[in-house]
Amino acid sequence: MGLAIVTGGSRGIGAAISEKLAAEGHDVVINCASSVEKAEAVAEKCRAHGVKAVVKQWDVSDYNACAKALAEIKEELGVPYILVNNAGITRDGLMVRMKEDQFDAVIQTNLKGAFNMLSQCGAMMMRAKKGRIINIASVAGIAGNPGQINYSAAKAGLIGMTKTASKELGARGITVNAVAPGFIDTDMTQVLPDAVKEGAVKQISLGRFGKPEEIAGVVAFLASDAASYVTGQTIVADGGMI
Ligand code: NDP
Repeated sequence: MGLAIVTGGSRGIGAAISEKLAAEGHDVVINCASSVEKAEAVAEKCRAHGVKAVVKQWDVSDYNACAKALAEIKEELGVPYILVNNAGITRDGLMVRMKEDQFDAVIQTNLKGAFNMLSQCGAMMMRAKKGRIINIASVAGIAGNPGQINYSAAKAGLIGMTKTASKELGARGITVNAVAPGFIDTDMTQVLPDAVKEGAVKQISLGRFGKPEEIAGVVAFLASDAASYVTGQTIVADGGMI
């Protein structure tokens, strides 16, 4: 079992991923942007599985902050075996009304943030000649979604980045895959207007939003030995929506 870094592990999908990887026996670094107390509560649940769990607050959109955090993690806990790029934000709005700062903020966190971690953590894994990288994309990056031109661009970019990284890192025994969730019940979707939620449910074959644990299960599979020959893929987990 190895060390896992989960960005945005304080809430929602990232919290469920952290707990699932801990249950599988991995030590976990739980990153967050600001909600340290929530992240500590997640770490406590992880420790109940008998693994080490450490909270680290840094902004994934800041390249140097990622470098500093990775150096600290290496020093304190060793080289990570698993990286889950999960941190993400939304700044929704129709394209013609979208402000430049809304577009930039989402690209900076959801796409550049993943690059910051992928490139620097990928370099550490290359030296170790092993690793599993899992990027949390979205069905919006595959099918598009009105009101999310920034978000769908970032997530489509993340899927492209997954494919390129899998080709660059494969020779060193590192797999890189993405998971594309549909609507999952978290803080991110709770803020959507009821009409949007009701409209979305009608398009989902399973007739309901997913639970964070249902994404964590797919991530755990990609991090497991069972997925040792899977790389460069995007697994859609959307209850049959797209
Ligand atoms: P939440 O809004 O519930 O949680 C977001 C997490 O990301 C929090 O832990 C937050 O930290 C962290 N975060 C945000 N910005 C940064 C940053 N700059 N640096 C470090 N951490 C940051 O989101 P979800 O759990 O719903 O989503 C998780 C991922 O799954 C995202 O990438 C999202 O795009 C993706 N996704 C979600 C779907 C959904 O329906 N919920 C569907 C498809 C994809 P803090 O708590 O400190 O703010």
